[in-house]
Amino acid sequence: MSRSLEQYRKKRNFTETPEPVGRVGRAGCSRIFVVQKHEASRRHYDFRLEINGALVSWAVPKGPSMNPGDKRLAVMTEDHPLEYADFEGVIPDGQYGAGTVMVWDKGTYETQDGIPPDEQLARGKIDVVLHGKKLRGGFTLVRMGTRSTDRQKANWLLVKHHDTDADPSWDIERTEFDRSVLTGRTPKEIETGRPRTKSRLGRTSESETDATQAKRAG
Ligand code: MN
Repeated sequence: MSRSLEQYRKKRNFTETPEPVGRVGRAGCSRIFVVQKHEASRRHYDFRLEINGALVSWAVPKGPSMNPGDKRLAVMTEDHPLEYADFEGVIPDGQYGAGTVMVWDKGTYETQDGIPPDEQLARGKIDVVLHGKKLRGGFTLVRMGTRSTDRQKANWLLVKHHDTDADPSWDIERTEFDRSVLTGRTPKEIETGRPRTKSRLGRTSESETDATQAKRAG
């Protein structure tokens, strides 16, 4: 069953925000995850897993942790389009989620126990192995409280597994973590429109930067 972007689109004015309109993609065999650091009115990290052609999303106020001793609150938000995984830029003032978005981590994931991710999502417990630059190894997302009919308002917990990737000394505030895995930029550099330092997507990145600057200038 494919997922819906109706809520995502309803919240946004795409003539004002540089975020993608997007569409529901086809499910591939390797699935992506992305974590975006979002300097909104309240800073948080958006944790997103590709499930059935969309990015199922949670806002994690304190950000993910590689320390199995940390239990991070993760509030489920609306599904985002797959294209959103490469979105980095500034959402203008007055728009939904206004502020700077940085691709904090990105990679692929697999489910840990052979249960497809949509079934894991439905049961309220998601066990995955992440292959990112900053986040690696096993993680569990578990829904708290009673089974709610309004799935999208549910609170979940994000917890690192005790495995060889675990790091009890994890501190997300370390400056080396504060760069985009896509462009090498800090949130400040994204905000001021500085071009990417490592061009992996070439032309796309430049037009993206121009578009962002044009939006802000106009
Ligand atoms: Mn956000």
